[in-house]
Amino acid sequence: MTEQNLFKTGAKIIECFEENNYEGYFVGGAVRDYTLGRAVSDVDITTNALPDEIESLFEKTIDVGKEHGTIIVLMDDLPFEVTTYRVEGEYTDHRRPDNVFFTQHLKEDLSRRDFTINAMAMTADMELYDPYDGIRDLDSRMINTVGTAADRFGEDALRMLRAVRFMSQLDFNLADDAKDAISLHAEMLDYVAVERITAELEKLYRGINVKSAKDMIERTGLKSHMPFFKHIDKEQYIKSSAQSLEQEAVIHIYNNSELSGHLSALKLSNRQKTTIKQSLKLLDDLKSDMHIKLVAYRYETDILTGVNAIINSNELLSTNHKEHLQSAIDAEPRLVIQNRNELAVDGNALMTALNARGGPWLRKCLDTIEREVLLENIKNNESEIINWVSSHVKNEDGNIVFTDGR
Ligand code: ATP
Ligand code: MG
Repeated sequence: MTEQNLFKTGAKIIECFEENNYEGYFVGGAVRDYTLGRAVSDVDITTNALPDEIESLFEKTIDVGKEHGTIIVLMDDLPFEVTTYRVEGEYTDHRRPDNVFFTQHLKEDLSRRDFTINAMAMTADMELYDPYDGIRDLDSRMINTVGTAADRFGEDALRMLRAVRFMSQLDFNLADDAKDAISLHAEMLDYVAVERITAELEKLYRGINVKSAKDMIERTGLKSHMPFFKHIDKEQYIKSSAQSLEQEAVIHIYNNSELSGHLSALKLSNRQKTTIKQSLKLLDDLKSDMHIKLVAYRYETDILTGVNAIINSNELLSTNHKEHLQSAIDAEPRLVIQNRNELAVDGNALMTALNARGGPWLRKCLDTIEREVLLENIKNNESEIINWVSSHVKNEDGNIVFTDGR
């Protein structure tokens, strides 16, 4: 799906609003990224139509947060988040408004948004509506809050982290009043749900200037209020170079294993936790000089390349070990087998050949064969493997014993 199509299809939604005497605009990140010439992956729309009215205007809708005014409209099978113009009531807990109110005025909706560059709207004809000078800040590459920084961060403390996330994502600077406000009120981040913090950190690490964001996190004191990160030594944190949240965790846990006890505070997904665990295991295996082919066989490509990226930009292992990992990456496509299913024998074939029943020996035997085939000490060919097994394993009255001490 090209981006042009995304806006074209979204324009149909806006036109439908207009035909029914409502207003509709593109808004938020899509307008910002389109104006910057950056890739746009999802396009949000804002309207003065109320959620029930949105639902009745379109054939396919999904209610994802009607009470906050958000409905997904499917147009030509593409999902668009459509949100009713709204303003927010008092914030008493630094994380969410006590109430939200729908409004009929676009400008009011834009005024509740966090940064000027995120508070622009655009018509179906791609004409900008920019009452808070987002374009000025896009031109000067500056992150400025809509209104007074301290007030806006006080309402929703996550915005402090969003500010540094956008620094990284866009390679922008942070306005001085925003910096000062964060330095003064960093502790308000303690009120924010971990999941929201982690989601912003993930985007931060995917950005193009992670370093500037990390420096700001340290300088303003935000780090001391970030789960897991608060336990990382300041110098280590500034020095490290990571391209994902998982990589950052790996680097610091590898340097200081006590940190692993704090990892759960980030509430990562199982997949992320596995990536971290596997990467740490790989670092240990490299350090203890595991055979290159075994390294290549045991680890998924993304773990190998992720750890390669980590060790090439951080001082974690010796040059020798780095070369070792590079050889493993090069060797991976040429391994004789990629997984155990590719072995020329299976448990049944072994039981038949030895005339024995299954048992713990079988697993041990398969593990050994797998290793020998992989290291090219035996050919991956049924009769060769069976021959090899017959000379290393004996069936002694139904008990299978390994004859060469393996
Ligand atoms: P991305 O490209 O990462 O999706 P985005 O600008 O679309 O960036 P979202 O988190 O998807 O960011 O939010 C969409 C829009 O909603 C923002 O552009 C901004 O206008 C508004 N917004 C989101 N979170 C907040 C917040 N915490 N406070 C105020 N406005 C917010
Ligand atoms: Mg978005």
